[in-house]
Amino acid sequence: MFGPPGSGKGTQAKLLEESLDVCHISTGDMLRERVASGDALGKAVAGIMESGGLVPDETVNRMVEERIEQPDCANGFILDGYPRTVNQAKLLVGVLGAKKIAPMLVHLKVDYNEIITRLSSRRICSQCGAVYSMPLSPQAEAECERCGGKLTIRDDDREEVVRERLKAYDRQTTPVLEFLRGVGFQALGVEAGKRSPQVILGDIQGLIEAKYGVSKVV
Ligand code: AMP
Repeated sequence: MFGPPGSGKGTQAKLLEESLDVCHISTGDMLRERVASGDALGKAVAGIMESGGLVPDETVNRMVEERIEQPDCANGFILDGYPRTVNQAKLLVGVLGAKKIAPMLVHLKVDYNEIITRLSSRRICSQCGAVYSMPLSPQAEAECERCGGKLTIRDDDREEVVRERLKAYDRQTTPVLEFLRGVGFQALGVEAGKRSPQVILGDIQGLIEAKYGVSKVV
């Protein structure tokens, strides 16, 4: 699942995880868990994440390599927020080749001005991870509608940090698309601005159906 921060990669990956019975691997979530746990890796990456920069390739590559070996990934997996650099993409291409996995590359496209508005209104449930957009669900401000958990703003969703994240995306992640195209991946573009998650999901499921002949397994 490819696209700039705030393009809805996580939202779509969560929806697809359920319908396809595959695992959702979000490197951002994994890193935030390590920061919250306060372990050595978490301490080492906290500052980088807070400023909107990218965590070193070796750290992220190792995490992803270990994660995709877990039993719940045996049916397949959705990568959300990875690869973000050409070095990460090179490792991934090697792993997919060795495992004989036929990948699909979905590129979610959204205008940057919309991203800035979206991320500054994003709230996350501290308990279940549900994502809210405040202008759409103002009643959700105090607590999560699903589990009653406290809604929080991600530290890196502040506007100045979002601008840094978009710069990192332009500088380090956009070349990943070119690299992957160069090694034979077809990037399937989906318009992800100003459309509901369910409509976007429908488009992605159509692409999955066309490629694999199936779009739902559960
Ligand atoms: P995300 O939740 O995907 O927006 O990621 C949040 C932050 O985690 C990013 O701004 C980076 O600091 C870090 N991060 C997540 N995935 C990667 C990755 N593949 N490579 C490097 N840093 C990452």
